[in-house]
Amino acid sequence: MSRPGAGGAWRDAGVNMLSPGRWSRSVRRRLRSIERRLREARMFARAMVSRNHPIVAQIVPIRRCNLACAYCNEFDAVSAPVPLDRMQKRVDLLAGLGTTIITISGGEPMLHPDLEAIVRRIRSHGAIATLITNGYLLTAERIRGLNRAGLDYLQISIDNVLPDDTSKKSLKTLDLKLQLLAEHAEFSVTVNSVLGSAVRNPQDARTIAIRAKHLGLASTVGILHDGRGQVQPLAPDHVAIYLDLLEPDQKMFSFAQFDQFQSNIAQGRPNRWHCRAGGRFLYVCEDGLVHYCSQQRGHPGISLDRYTREHLERESAREKPCAPYCTISCVHQTAMLDSFRENPREVLLQMIAARQQRNPSYRPPALLKVLRWMFLEGPVNRTLSKAAMRVLRVSR
Ligand code: SF4
Repeated sequence: MSRPGAGGAWRDAGVNMLSPGRWSRSVRRRLRSIERRLREARMFARAMVSRNHPIVAQIVPIRRCNLACAYCNEFDAVSAPVPLDRMQKRVDLLAGLGTTIITISGGEPMLHPDLEAIVRRIRSHGAIATLITNGYLLTAERIRGLNRAGLDYLQISIDNVLPDDTSKKSLKTLDLKLQLLAEHAEFSVTVNSVLGSAVRNPQDARTIAIRAKHLGLASTVGILHDGRGQVQPLAPDHVAIYLDLLEPDQKMFSFAQFDQFQSNIAQGRPNRWHCRAGGRFLYVCEDGLVHYCSQQRGHPGISLDRYTREHLERESAREKPCAPYCTISCVHQTAMLDSFRENPREVLLQMIAARQQRNPSYRPPALLKVLRWMFLEGPVNRTLSKAAMRVLRVSR
């Protein structure tokens, strides 16, 4: 009789044996994921009780990029990194405004020599730290450095399967980096693919999503916008793939990718929503100025060290003419949280109904079930939701 582990019986039984190093990494990854979900829950709860703080801020530690994608208007080839002390001051100022998620973008942020120290500063304030990168500079050592710094999320964009004149961010070039992330990252990794007129082969988005899933990484798909963040309607074959890839997953907070919004964008139809950029979402450029978003720079263009709660409220309330055809999904998501705060019953009912219409066997993820229970199933849950806020240590 063979002893499990001695003669391959575990493998025969379909059980993967992990080396001690991999086992401890897997445990650490799981523990960090639980801790991250708790902080996300606190972020969500805070967004529900207060409308006066930024939910997300994007910061730019360097405008330079090592690539030159033809569709991108967010980089140059020469800028120096912003000094660390200046970046840390900006993180402190954002934390002082109550910002709950700070995303580091660029340019290519991995060109910044002190990236890990910036991540550490974000985490020292209890905020969620996110990084958007083209992935070219990832190594096992840098991934471990980001683990140690406490990074929560990393988003890597892959535009095609084979590099072309528009973009070198291809699966062929970056697959090894994805494997490194799957092996070493203790933070959550999302692979973002794109659709739009500059994409020659829309099937690439599906190939990239399948590869990400195979490696155990999350995937999303975005739509290329013009130089002002506005939608360029997709061709029918792109629309079909986009809607297919938008199948709701089961993760906490994935509901923020609300269906109607996304499918309107894919089909070039306007959305009716209120953009709260300048209040709930801030874009802080390399010069330390606050803008609505990466595509509406110059508005309001006020220095972060002079940005006050009055500015947050005023800019959040302002109507933006670019809103109906806007594709900036992270700002949509913050607006979704506010719609939910203002009208939880209606938003929840619409969201669940829309998903069940598309997929009759759709089962809401755990968070949606909790929210439905809290907001839709009886007055007693108002008391319970107050208790939940206390457990999460959330105050107005
Ligand atoms: S609607 Fe808001 S997020 Fe979209 S482009 Fe305009 S300012 Fe930016």
